[in-house]
Amino acid sequence: MVNRFQVKDRFADGAQYIDGRLRSGTSGQSHTVVDPATGEEVLTYELASTADVDEAVAAAKRAFPAWSAATPGERSDALHRLAAVLAEQAEDFAYAESLQCGKPIKLSTEFDVPGTIDNTAFFAGAARHLQGQAAAEYSGDHTSYVRREAIGVVGSIAPWNYPLQMAAWKILPAIAAGNTIVLKPAELTPLTSLMFAQAAKDAGLPDGVVNIVTGAGRDAGEHLVGHPDVVMTSFTGSTAVGKRVAEIATATVKRLHLELGGKAPFLVFDDADLEAAAHGAVAASLINTGQDCTAATRAYVQRPLHEAFVSRVAELMETVRLGDPFDPATDLGPLVSHAQRDRVAGFVERARGYATVVTGGEVPGGELAEGAYYRPTLVSGAAQDSEVVQSEIFGPVLVVLPFDTDDEGIALANDTPYGLAASAWSRDVYRAGRATREIKAGCVWVNDHIPIISEMPHGGYKASGFGKDMSAYSFEEYTQVKHVMYDNTAVAAKDWHRTVFGDRT
Ligand code: NAD
Repeated sequence: MVNRFQVKDRFADGAQYIDGRLRSGTSGQSHTVVDPATGEEVLTYELASTADVDEAVAAAKRAFPAWSAATPGERSDALHRLAAVLAEQAEDFAYAESLQCGKPIKLSTEFDVPGTIDNTAFFAGAARHLQGQAAAEYSGDHTSYVRREAIGVVGSIAPWNYPLQMAAWKILPAIAAGNTIVLKPAELTPLTSLMFAQAAKDAGLPDGVVNIVTGAGRDAGEHLVGHPDVVMTSFTGSTAVGKRVAEIATATVKRLHLELGGKAPFLVFDDADLEAAAHGAVAASLINTGQDCTAATRAYVQRPLHEAFVSRVAELMETVRLGDPFDPATDLGPLVSHAQRDRVAGFVERARGYATVVTGGEVPGGELAEGAYYRPTLVSGAAQDSEVVQSEIFGPVLVVLPFDTDDEGIALANDTPYGLAASAWSRDVYRAGRATREIKAGCVWVNDHIPIISEMPHGGYKASGFGKDMSAYSFEEYTQVKHVMYDNTAVAAKDWHRTVFGDRT
């Protein structure tokens, strides 16, 4: 039974969360959140103006001195309380996430929400383990040590595919380390980021530590990235927008963390368990309707298994049930919007000119006709340099290609500009081990593809960006290290002063 609260009532005050208060934007421009399963309006709200961004940054700046001076234990306690509040409100979060994204409720309930609660609990623990390097007398005459310090106000920008998890991935390491934050969610999907900030207040976090501005990328987004009081930009989104964000951040000398697009290879060697690989490919290409930056998108299958893999994957894809996201039996919901559905369909239509659409490749009719649905799609026979193999589609589309030698398979896996995630399927530990070493990606799975855990880093190589979300590694982004050096000699004329005073010392 899904807990359906009234979104319009909940956000009657607006869709900006600044200094501990929900309020309306002041841009004069409205935006409508649409349920992509039905095309119906969920909420119309006023977007943030640049003045709203300024207010949010000012609130975060005011909150920084006290929050960064709180003890690790105090910040940890606050995050433990936040994890408990999120758990109490888990059904509301799952409902809102499914409503704004069209995600099957079983995905929101079993993945997005518990993943977020686990992440919060992880950072509650990690907040007490922020360490600098141990002290030592490296010069002989001084004691040196490293302090790890918060950096200030972080400006973050998030995409629409996993709005709750993306908000959590940005907010949690930033505030666990003592920073304060202004997060801009995607215009399409602001609900659960706002709810996360409200939950932080319910958990007793001080006003101004977490602020949400829901504005357009080109104005509120760019203004946040270029803001002089924001010391770091953490962006998750497409590589194209990431490049623009990098330009603005660089011009204002900001620390930068970019989590960008992906085009993950799925490499199946000829000794792999075919049934496991076929199941894995279907699940990993269709999760979240393929709108997952680590989704399996290019299956390279060694020639002896290629034909059997294509027919088994097609057969399994045809068993996947499209439907109402709130029906617990639904496997696949719509894409996030009709525009995104049309974009995905465009890639497949163009691919018909040079490849074979084995299954799918169509917009379903009947009861699903009003929603942004698209059938699970398998494409074969495309050339390595074709659009469908090289470009991020971000929909339920898997392309399969054959390869002959292991060398060739690994080379093909590496042959896109992206490097976010990959998987290798083999029963031979040496073959799989070689793939884990030679594939250029931030994560390589062996005989699985998709699982993530709070303790391990997530982030890209190559055009997929740099920096890490989740895990203790994310603190490298959200802290700065300071060398502190104490003189131990208590001598007025120190040895090294000879370089200035010469023999007079
Ligand atoms: P997008 O790049 O269009 O938008 C992302 C965010 O940037 C949104 O909040 C948007 O409003 C904002 N934005 C747009 N133009 C901007 C500008 N000029 N200045 C500042 N901000 C701007 O991406 P999307 O369509 O929302 O999400 C899909 C993309 O996100 C895919 O490419 C996907 O691979 C990527 N993604 C990456 C990861 C990762 O961890 N690497 C995770 C999830 C999604």
